[in-house]
Amino acid sequence: MKRLVCPVCQQQVHFANTICLNCQTDLVYDPFAATMTPLDGSAPCLNRDQIACNWPAGDGGFCESCAATETIPDLNIMGNLDRWSRVETAKRRLFYSLIALGLPRVSPAGKALRFSFMADEIGPDGQVIHKVLTGHEEGAITINIAEADDDEREARRVAMGEPYRTLLGHLRHEVGHYYWEVLVKEAGREAECAEVFGDAAQDYAAALQRHYAEGPPQGWDEAHVSSYATAHPWEDWAETWAHMLHIVDGLDTARNHGLDPSGTGVDDAHAITDPEVLMQAWIPLATAMNAMNRSMGHQDFYPFVISPIVAAKIGYILQLIRQPALSTQAVA
Ligand SMILES: [Zn+2]
Ligand SMILES: [Zn+2]
Ligand SMILES: [Zn+2]
Repeated sequence: MKRLVCPVCQQQVHFANTICLNCQTDLVYDPFAATMTPLDGSAPCLNRDQIACNWPAGDGGFCESCAATETIPDLNIMGNLDRWSRVETAKRRLFYSLIALGLPRVSPAGKALRFSFMADEIGPDGQVIHKVLTGHEEGAITINIAEADDDEREARRVAMGEPYRTLLGHLRHEVGHYYWEVLVKEAGREAECAEVFGDAAQDYAAALQRHYAEGPPQGWDEAHVSSYATAHPWEDWAETWAHMLHIVDGLDTARNHGLDPSGTGVDDAHAITDPEVLMQAWIPLATAMNAMNRSMGHQDFYPFVISPIVAAKIGYILQLIRQPALSTQAVA
């Protein structure tokens, strides 16, 4: 994430700020220039007042990010406005990366990336009538907004034995499934991708069932970034994709704040295509950040180990992203 400043007083402001806390200027974030601008009579996203979206209005009145949301939760239910707002804030951060990487939100074949944020339906007796499953189908991403509650998400993280679980992480994972469809399936690269991630034609439902019944195989971390990545090649791709975004955004933020314990002088994190260069910059940064977190008594900033095989998988994804046809929307 770039370092952003108030256009009026030059004070540093956060990505999600709707106002400069120093000079009280109302702010709009320009997602294509990646700068803060004064609101100053310009048209803001229609969601600005309701969920503090600080992006500008697009064609239909909603911003680039909010326009991709198809379904929002029932706002008559207490807490849902807050949950929706938190998910959208994480989604704008996701969109920052997609725009910076020049990734299309409509595929060459016309498949659009879109989102539904929904809550479980609870009956009068408190029982769940309809459960919302977080997932992806044909470009449509569904997120169960219960994940926006810190206590709920943390309970699930502990129950699943996961080292990391965040809203942004969910979005980065699910969007990975969409980009598999765009960069692999639509591009006719399934056989090539299978050489890196394994054969995705294997029965998905059976694979997930096996994963939940038996857990990951011994030595899974030699070739997978997480235990869930072992469930099926699609999940391996989505997990690896999410890590590509964690790492590139992490390096981008570090560079913009003058943090480079690697001494490699990474210039533009979004332009790196060599996984070795990426790892040389990332590993010392992640190690330093883990040490910082431990010195505050927090959990690790990046509780993962990237093996050489996983680094090569990330390299393959970076190579697909850098196909010339996709680079037209990149931010300069
Ligand atoms: Zn200011
Ligand atoms: Zn918006
Ligand atoms: Zn998945």
